Amino acid sequence: MTTAGRGPQSDAADSLGATARLEDLRAAIAARARDCARDPASVTLIAVAKTFSAEEVWPTIARGEQTVFGENRVQEAKSKWPDLRARAAAIGKQIELHLIGPLQSNKAREAVELFDAIETVDRDKIAGALAEAMAKAGKRPRLFVEINTGGEAQKAGVAPQEADAFLARCRDVHGLTIEGLMCVPPVGEQASPHFALLKLIARRNGIAHLSMGMSGDWPLAVQLGATHVRIGSAIYGSRA
Ligand SMILES: *Cc1c(COP(=O)(O)O)cnc(C)c1O
Repeated sequence: MTTAGRGPQSDAADSLGATARLEDLRAAIAARARDCARDPASVTLIAVAKTFSAEEVWPTIARGEQTVFGENRVQEAKSKWPDLRARAAAIGKQIELHLIGPLQSNKAREAVELFDAIETVDRDKIAGALAEAMAKAGKRPRLFVEINTGGEAQKAGVAPQEADAFLARCRDVHGLTIEGLMCVPPVGEQASPHFALLKLIARRNGIAHLSMGMSGDWPLAVQLGATHVRIGSAIYGSRA
């Protein structure tokens, strides 16, 4: 594995050594799924590319099997992914891009255009704006509701005790199909109760997908039922 720095490189150089780490990680996730008596195909790795440039991300598209990526900012995604998507399509690869960071309602239109999945639906204003943007664009990204499982004041997401009512409003008021739930457990806490809570809320609301688990806790998330793990630094290295 190369440990070269982040200087200017040609797009084939894989300056981060990310391709090798990514392939190791894909194998480790599949092995973990099998150890937990799960079908490896039931766990999707979302490679979180935030803060890394298009040139740094490109080798992980061009060289390997990875097609699912995550970004946490609409503006950053807009500056990177139309071009990366086109380059991927030119070599026969179809990208699936997930928004995993907070969304402002005035960016709903752009988000619908840019992303294949939006994981951070967490209030009526966003749900309404997305419904309107989706109708206008004639495009329906897959939607996940973010749950603030730790009840942290500064964190996005629906409070766990409000989740059932919000999910019902997404369906009945906004006409949205919610396919999954997403959470980011509080830093420095055991993640397992948060993952278990997310699964409980999903199960009682008939929701199939669980986006949970990051670089530090994905094995636990796979054990507890994650269908999507969102991993950045374990692939691309630590962020500046
Ligand atoms: C950055 C980010 C990740 C990836 O975190 P790593 O610890 O780098 O794997 C996952 N989920 C969300 C919501 C993020 O913002």
